[in-house]
Amino acid sequence: MEKPVFTGKFTQQEPIPEAAIEAAVRVMRSGRLHRYNLLPGEEGEVSALEREFAAYTGARYALAVASGGYAMGCALRALGVGPGDRVLSNGFTLAPVPGAIASVGAEPVFVETTESLTIDLDDLAVKAASSGAKVLLLSHMRGHICDMERLVQVAAAHGLQVVEDCAHTMGAAWKGVPSGRHGIIGCYSTQTYKHMNSGEGGLLVSDDADVMARAIMLSGSYMLYGRHSVGPSVDRYENVKYVTPNVSGRMDHLRAAILRPQLADLPAQIARWNALYRTVEEGLRNTPGLKVIERPPQETIVGSSIQVLLPGWAPDRVRALVAGCARRGVELKWFGAEEPVAFTSRYDSWRYAPPQRLPRTDAILAGLIDMRLPLTFSEANARLIAEIIRDEVRAAA
Ligand SMILES: *Cc1c(COP(=O)(O)O)cnc(C)c1O
Repeated sequence: MEKPVFTGKFTQQEPIPEAAIEAAVRVMRSGRLHRYNLLPGEEGEVSALEREFAAYTGARYALAVASGGYAMGCALRALGVGPGDRVLSNGFTLAPVPGAIASVGAEPVFVETTESLTIDLDDLAVKAASSGAKVLLLSHMRGHICDMERLVQVAAAHGLQVVEDCAHTMGAAWKGVPSGRHGIIGCYSTQTYKHMNSGEGGLLVSDDADVMARAIMLSGSYMLYGRHSVGPSVDRYENVKYVTPNVSGRMDHLRAAILRPQLADLPAQIARWNALYRTVEEGLRNTPGLKVIERPPQETIVGSSIQVLLPGWAPDRVRALVAGCARRGVELKWFGAEEPVAFTSRYDSWRYAPPQRLPRTDAILAGLIDMRLPLTFSEANARLIAEIIRDEVRAAA
């Protein structure tokens, strides 16, 4: 019998919702694309997005910016991180995270990874003490959230300020607290492959008035900071307005217009992602040689991608599995390959940082398989994908 083949596209997004297209056209017809180009009394799409995103996350303040990477760099600058400072971060994360640290002249110090793909809190405590770092840029890589109560305790014990990278956890939560709300600043991305799609874009939330005043100045507010209705009161800018550089990274009305209807749809989209995720997870559970990553009950997930472990597999066997799945239309990414491909660069690929050894992370990445779950897939697609992976794992045995 012919082996079934999957014909969907792992990089194909859903179209932008019609309401968002209409809002975008309205903005273009107005010609007012710059966030501060407003008529008297007009709120503008960017401020409206900030208001709605602050309400969604329960934050006091929100700022929309040019990208997720920009949001992280801006967050670090707003906390006063500068040249030569050390910043702790996950050994397993995406290139823009150490890139944001390097963008302010600081040095990433990478922390080990657990089998749950989260930051190793014991290693964090050790490295917080040994590095002298004052800031942790915590990446919820691929949506996996660590024990946030323990993380907050470790951070407090070592005087660490926590910036959360929520590129993959927009809409996720730990014990009901939205991701991005445990640290001093939460950073989000609205790049095409994340949970809302404006091509490029980012958001930053905080309850801290002084930090947010600096972030708003940094983002390129000129002396128009008073127009930030979702920012601190104007007196908070008195001490920062002459000493904070303008590092332009604003969002424009066009992208905000595209995002607002998507934010309204986000809870429904999350339910659809999770249905795909749980279908693949169920289909792969109890596959000999393959380990599903069990999600803790405290975590509210957004299953926009799924990861599995192949513990102890030799590289040739992993390569055979990836190739076998690819022949049947299932695109797996392997974080253990010698040379990084597309998005799979690792801490040892980021050679602008001082060389570091993370043996536990190495062992996990050697068998880490990653797969996107775009919403253009149906649950029947998800069942077929799991069946193909199961078959090919058996064949690679
Ligand atoms: C995408 C991503 C970012 C950065 O987002 P951009 O908007 O592309 O700059 C940060 N962290 C993680 C884990 C990401 O996947």
